[in-house]
This record gives sequence, structure tokens and C-alpha cells, in this order.
Amino acid sequence: MAETKAAGYLQDFRARGDAIAADCTRCGACFRACPMVAPAGLSEADPEKTAAGIVDLVTGGAGTAEAVRWASVCSGSGHCIKACPEGINTRFMVQLARGFARRRRGEAPLKPAWRESFQAMSRSVRTLSRLQMPPEVLARLRMYKKAPREHPPQIVFYTGCNVLRTPHIVLLCLDVLDLLAIDYEVMGGPGECCGVYQFREGDFDNNARIAYASIDGLASAGASTVLSWCPSCQVQLGEVSLPGYEARFGRRPFDLNPFLVFLAEKADALAPLMRRRVEKRVALHERPVLPAVQAAVRRLLAIIPGVELVEIDVPRVGTQANSLSVLPAFKRELRERELAAVAAAGVTTLATIYHACHREICDAGDGKSFEIVNFMEILGEGLGFAAEDLYKRWKLMREIDEIIAETSALIAERGLDLETVRDVLLAEFGAR
Ligand code: SF4
Ligand code: SF4
Repeated sequence: MAETKAAGYLQDFRARGDAIAADCTRCGACFRACPMVAPAGLSEADPEKTAAGIVDLVTGGAGTAEAVRWASVCSGSGHCIKACPEGINTRFMVQLARGFARRRRGEAPLKPAWRESFQAMSRSVRTLSRLQMPPEVLARLRMYKKAPREHPPQIVFYTGCNVLRTPHIVLLCLDVLDLLAIDYEVMGGPGECCGVYQFREGDFDNNARIAYASIDGLASAGASTVLSWCPSCQVQLGEVSLPGYEARFGRRPFDLNPFLVFLAEKADALAPLMRRRVEKRVALHERPVLPAVQAAVRRLLAIIPGVELVEIDVPRVGTQANSLSVLPAFKRELRERELAAVAAAGVTTLATIYHACHREICDAGDGKSFEIVNFMEILGEGLGFAAEDLYKRWKLMREIDEIIAETSALIAERGLDLETVRDVLLAEFGAR
């Protein structure tokens, strides 16, 4: 078990900043490749000077106004990583600069800046997951009551937090693992946080403390492979925390890989298990954050009988939909452009991949010529599984009172506090 109470994690991040500064030539290629530059009003900024400003931030300086602005709008697409001739993880560099810039800005302690949003997320995840899953299904996730094990599982399925607001996606993932007879343990939820809330605000000490405790928790299952569902967790743990953990403690307790990439590697085993034709023409709602996941989804769609993939030529930006909230007009423009392109392509289905994107657009097919479902629903349909998307159902209802009325028996049965449920539903679906 790592010593998670050790002080001085901030110094570890400073050392990583210094190492980047030593390698970076300030060529500006990362800035030129970034899709957020123009929408953030930075088209006129000098790429070399802005990159130098980022390096200044990660080494303790004030940077430049352009560098601070660039860091503040980073959505994690990763276009910059491929552009760097020095092999620097530029996504980490820019997001590290964002944290250091926020540290400089805030005279007040850092914790309040992330605590409120973290608590709101925790409450939403706990309430929505309990509202959608009866105890026997929650038990299937084995997150709240773990059965003792004689042998370590083959893998750990790490949900992260937020996918539990759309639990049908997780349940379909577990159905597929069961079908493949893979022995797994499910971990995640707000108690096993990846640390992104703290990292974003530059609270590096708390980020490391929380993320390293989660890494120890995941490692305690004894599996050498942990599969992430969430791209934000994959980036946060895979690019920020596991390298930091390894540098500090001299070991990396497991490999972290995206679940869908793992599944695509099993495509040949899954193909003969298909039970149904799925007559759909499918466009993908994609994010560039993890190119291997984009390839994996294509590989898996190809084994579902009846599915035809229709490529849509629209820009792909960000980690998930919420990563673009920093530039709302740009986000809206991308969404409208994509929905118009999907309608024009005459597809039956727009398939989301990640959960935050699904939450954001799952209702946007209402009244249109195409449905919006998650990719796992299509894969599940081919394999003979179904899990109802209650989140979409509730989002499509126009009144919170209607949702409360529909779920009142569940609220009582599961012992949920009605006012908390109402607050969570209001925050989630708005007062429509
Ligand atoms: S990760 Fe994406 S948004 Fe962030 S700096 Fe790189 S290209 Fe720009
Ligand atoms: S592309 Fe790489 S070397 Fe060039 S400025 Fe960006 S981080 Fe530095």
C-alpha cells in the first residue's frame, strides 16, 4: 500500500513540469494543432510565444495571457500529442499549466473550488444509480458489498463515477463480459475517484492523495489489468496519476486500458455469439480523445450482422461533450452541424460512445428521422441483450413531477429521500 498521506506531491508535479521544460523546444506545433485555438479567440496569438508561456506556467511562472487562455479551454482532444516532434505528452503539459494558472489566480484555499462540484456529482451518481437499479442489480456491480474472493479476478472493470448516471451502459458491458466468461471485479463510484476534479483546479496535493488511494484500491483486487470505461478516467489515471505513482513509489501496479479496446481484441470470439441481425444504418458520435477506442468501435460494429456504418464528415473535438462547456457557442455549433449531417446522411441511428455525450444528446433524436442510442445498446442487441435507457426516458419527459410520479414506488422502496431526488432530477433534467 502506498503512503498516501505523504506530503510534497506538489513537488512531484513541479518536477514533471521541469522535465517538460527541458525537452520542449517552444516550436509551437502543439498550439497550431489545437482545435480550441480559433474558437477561443486565439487565432492571432503567436504559437511559439504561447507554447513558451505554457512552459513558463508549468515551471512556476505567470505565463502569458494567451497561454493562460489556451490552458483554460483545453478539452483534451489530444490533437496536440501527435503534433509534438519531441514526443511530449502535450495534453498533460497544457492541463498541468491550467492547474498552475488556477493556483496562481486563487488566493483562497483550493479545496472549495472543486469540493462543491464533486459533492454535487457524488449526490447525483448515488441517487440516479439507486433510482435506476434495484438492489439485486446494484449487487451485480459488486461495488457496495464485495464478496470475498479466493483468486484475483482476470480484470477489474473500472466504471469511474459518472457512467453510473446511465447504468444501462455499464450493465450491457457486464453482460458482454459474462458472455465471454471473463472473471471480473467491478470498482468505481465517487469513493474511487480518478482525481480529475482536483487536478483541474490545480489542487495537486489532493489530486495525488485521492488518485493514489484509488490506484491502491484498484490494485487490491490483484488483477494486472484494469479496464476503464470513462475516457476522462483513462487520461487522468493513465497519463497523470499512474506515471506520478510510478515515479514516487517505483512501481506501476497494473496496466490501464480502455474497455472497448479490450473488447475489440475479443471481436473474433464475439462474432460467432451474435444472435440477432440489427438492421441499422449507424453514424457515430465520436470524440478524438482516445483514437484506439474509435478504431475499436469500428471493429465491433463490423461484427454485428445487419449494421452498416455511415461515416459523417464533421469535426471531432474534446474528451466528452462536457469538456466543451468552456466554449458554449462552439459546442452548440458543433452539435448542430453534426445533427444536420446525420439527418442528411439518412441514417437510422446516431450512436454515442461515451456516457457524458449520451447524457447530453440522448433526447436530441426526438422528432427527427433517426434515433440516438449508445453504442453498447447496438452491440447488446446483436448479442441478444437489452437494458432500458431510463435516463433517456426521463430526459424526454417534460416535467420533473412526471418523473417523480413514475418513480414514486421506487423512491419509497429504495428508501431515497424525496427532496434529494427532486433536487437531483432538477439539476439533471432542468425545470421543464
Ligand atoms: S489536448 Fe486538445 S484541446 Fe488540449 S491543448 Fe491539446 S489539442 Fe488543444
Ligand atoms: S510541440 Fe512539443 S516541442 Fe513544440 S512547443 Fe509543443 S510541447 Fe514544445
